Amino acid sequence: MTLAARTAPSATEHTARAGSVSLRGLTKSFGEFTAVRELDLDVAPGEFLSMLGPSGSGKTTVLRVIAGFEDATSGSVLLSGKDVTRTPPHSRDVNTVFQDYALFPHLSIAENVGYGLRVRGTSKAARGEQVSESLRRVRLDHVADRLPHQLSGGQRQRIALARALILRPQVLLLDEPLGALDKQLREQMQIELKQIQREVGITFIFVTHDQEEALTLSDRVAVFNNGRIEQVGSAREVYEDPQTEFVARFLGLSNLIEGDLADELTGDRRTMSIRPERVRLQAPSDPLADGDVGLLGAVKEIVYTGPATRYLIAADAGMDLIAERPNSDRPAQQHVLRRGDHVRAVWTPLHAARLP
Ligand code: ADP
Ligand code: MG
Repeated sequence: MTLAARTAPSATEHTARAGSVSLRGLTKSFGEFTAVRELDLDVAPGEFLSMLGPSGSGKTTVLRVIAGFEDATSGSVLLSGKDVTRTPPHSRDVNTVFQDYALFPHLSIAENVGYGLRVRGTSKAARGEQVSESLRRVRLDHVADRLPHQLSGGQRQRIALARALILRPQVLLLDEPLGALDKQLREQMQIELKQIQREVGITFIFVTHDQEEALTLSDRVAVFNNGRIEQVGSAREVYEDPQTEFVARFLGLSNLIEGDLADELTGDRRTMSIRPERVRLQAPSDPLADGDVGLLGAVKEIVYTGPATRYLIAADAGMDLIAERPNSDRPAQQHVLRRGDHVRAVWTPLHAARLP
C-alpha cells in the first residue's frame, strides 16, 4: 500500500529552491482560540506531502495561511525560500483546489480551464493550446465543449485540477479534493492524482482526514492533532513507527501494551504499539519461537473483512488484543478458530514500535 518515499533534502538545502514551502513557528488564533500552534514544517520542491488529521485539527487553517487567505498570528511562511507572510494571496505562487471545486456553470469546460489564463491576459491562441494540453493531462480532452453539469463528479474534480495546474503554480494546495467522491471513484482518482503530480513535478500539499488516502499518495505525511503536528515521516515511518499514542491510533488499528506488562514481556517499560497484522495466533500449547513474546487469551469476536479476518482476543492479562490474518492463508492449512477458543497471541518485539 505504501509508495517508496523520496528522500527529502535537508531544510537548509531546499528552502532556497523553487517550489519549497517552509513554516516557521506558525501560529494562528481566532480570538481566544488557537487553531494552529507553533508549527514548523519543511516541504521539498516536487514533494507530495499530506496533512492528515481529524476534523478540527487545523489542516485547512494551515493551507489558508500558506495561500494567504488568512494572516498568521505569529511565525512565518516561506515559499521558495522567500518570506511571504505579509504577501497578498494573488502575489503568491500557489494555487488551491477545494473540495467544492465550483466551476462556472455557464462556461464550457475549455472556458473554465482557460479562465485563469484569460484573466492574466494570455492570447486566445496560446490559451487554446494550453487548455488542450491541460485537458489531455487529466485525460478529458474529449469533453472540452461540454458544460460542467454534463460531467460526472470525478470528471468535474479533474477539471478543477486542470484549471489549477494550467497556471503552473510552483505549489498546489489541495483541501480534501476527493472528499465528495464515492469510494471507488476516489480510489481511482488517487492513482491519477499521483500520476499527474509525478508528471508535472509541482509541490503538492494535500489535506485529508482519510489515513489510507494519505498513506497511498504521499512522499511524506504530517499527522495533525489539536493544531500541532505530532509526527512527520514517510507513510511507512508513521505507520510502522508511530512516535505518539495518537499517531498509533489514528493510523489504523493498534495494540498498545503499557508499563508493567511491557516490562514483564520485554524488560522495557515503554509502551509497545503492535499492528494487528503483526500479531499471530497459535495454540496455547505451541512453543514460543526464539525472541517472540505472547499473551494467552480467548477468541472473543471474529470479523471477516474480505481480504483479511480480524480476531478480537480477550487476553488473560485483562486487555483486548486485535490480530489480523490475511485470507490468502487457506483455512484448510490453518487452524480454524472459533469464538471461545483458547489461543496465544504472539509477536516479535522487533515488529513493535516503542512510544517514547
Ligand atoms: P480541519 O481542516 O483540520 O478540519 P480547521 O483548520 O478548519 O480544521 O479548523 C481548526 C479549528 O479552528 C476548528 O476548531 C475551527 O472551528 C476553528 N476555526 C477555523 N476557522 C475559523 C474562523 N474563521 N473563526 C473561528 N474559528 C475558526
Ligand atoms: Mg478542513
